[in-house]
Amino acid sequence: MLRQDRLLLGLAALLPIALMACQNSATPTEALASPPPAPIKLEAEKGTLTGVTASKDGSGFSGTGYVTGFTTDQSSVAWKFGAKGGIYKVVVGFRTTSGDKGFDLKVNGASYSGHFPKSDTFAEYQAGKVELKDGENEIQVLKGWGWYDLDFVKLDYAPVPAAIKPVPATLVSPNASTEAKAVMEILAKGYGKRMLTGQYDEKDNAFIQQSTGKLPAIFGGDLMDYSPSRVEHGANPEGTAESHIAQAKKGQLVTLSWHWNAPTGLIDAMIKDDQGKEVDAKWYKGFYTNASTFDIGKTLANPESREFKLILRDIDAIAVQLKKYQAAKVPVLWRPLHEAEGKWFWWGAKGPEPCKQLYRLMFDRLTKFHKLDNLIWVWNSIDPAWYPGDDVVDIVAVDSYPSDHNDPLSNVWDQMIAQFDGKKMLALAEIGGVPDPDRMFKFGTRFAYFVSWSGSIGSGREDPARLKAAYTSPVVANSDNWRSK
Ligand code: CA
Repeated sequence: MLRQDRLLLGLAALLPIALMACQNSATPTEALASPPPAPIKLEAEKGTLTGVTASKDGSGFSGTGYVTGFTTDQSSVAWKFGAKGGIYKVVVGFRTTSGDKGFDLKVNGASYSGHFPKSDTFAEYQAGKVELKDGENEIQVLKGWGWYDLDFVKLDYAPVPAAIKPVPATLVSPNASTEAKAVMEILAKGYGKRMLTGQYDEKDNAFIQQSTGKLPAIFGGDLMDYSPSRVEHGANPEGTAESHIAQAKKGQLVTLSWHWNAPTGLIDAMIKDDQGKEVDAKWYKGFYTNASTFDIGKTLANPESREFKLILRDIDAIAVQLKKYQAAKVPVLWRPLHEAEGKWFWWGAKGPEPCKQLYRLMFDRLTKFHKLDNLIWVWNSIDPAWYPGDDVVDIVAVDSYPSDHNDPLSNVWDQMIAQFDGKKMLALAEIGGVPDPDRMFKFGTRFAYFVSWSGSIGSGREDPARLKAAYTSPVVANSDNWRSK
């Protein structure tokens, strides 16, 4: 028997009581509203196992065991079950004895990605939300990175809230410019109601305009080649800032990242990693941790060092560029030190403390010493350990490269909203390809904006029909209407 049939039978039994209640105080609608569907728990050991095995060894699992051996691409556990249609919150019971592991969840053909933290004992992972339909549903847990144990999947009916809490429209920057304040007010006013579209790279922006008739609301640029250690090696950034300002004059809001080449200590050679694999660590890869010997922890601990002075030299060089946007009255969604928690960039390589210290040093240097008043400060990490503080962050953002572009990203959204609801605006600073804004809103994922990374849209990488649907969705705003919608 399907679960909703059991529920309906249960409801019929309650009906006389409900009608009595109705005659007393409750309105008919309240009294007759269906109770929320009961949670659905799917034990891994009772699913259909492919290329994996059930085990009862050890303790701490739910039900009568768990499933282990996710080692081949075919490894999966699948269940078919009845449900009432709607959005459900997913909790996955798991164990990961050899470090954190990514996994894939497929629900009625739609893919969702998740990431188990390391846990030697059985634990629960909040995997975001999925959509179930009335009647029979199918869920599969697919290998992903593999090498984890799966205990169960639990689904709780979770209707999407009609609104999210408003966030302050004020900026952390002292003496923020009129233009920057106006942008933040516009973003705050529409927050949760619509999402600004965005795209890195001029060619990709032009491609979107050609194929959808719409220019993204946000233009994404990068100040990488202004890094002094790149200029020393012959990089020529001439005209980059000017080209971004030209995009702003077309009605776009500018966001900037900075692939900051390490100030010194560049390896500038091909090297072998721990596994003996060849790695390009030439000077132009100098923002990567493995392409320099630069140590941000040691540098910040020694303010008198040559390295510390080079940090300031680099920030000052970037300030020269940022002042061009300031002079042109162009506010910037400024996203320095991005993806720090991944540790693949040198600014994150020594952990959260030096990184937060560097961010605050940059904030002070740019806003107080250089008096830049046009920056809206975007912090790009969702791990609370890395958060530099409410007083230096306007927007908290995440980068995501989901295996399925239709993934509504509800798991990262839920993690972020748990920390920042009503406190800081949330944004999707980088995504591979274009997301599905309608689907995101259906799941309650309501980022202020999304910005697709350069090279992820054109040359057949994104389906033109999906691109057009995203840019003409009623829940997005483009360059022509983000100030008014
Ligand atoms: Ca189990």
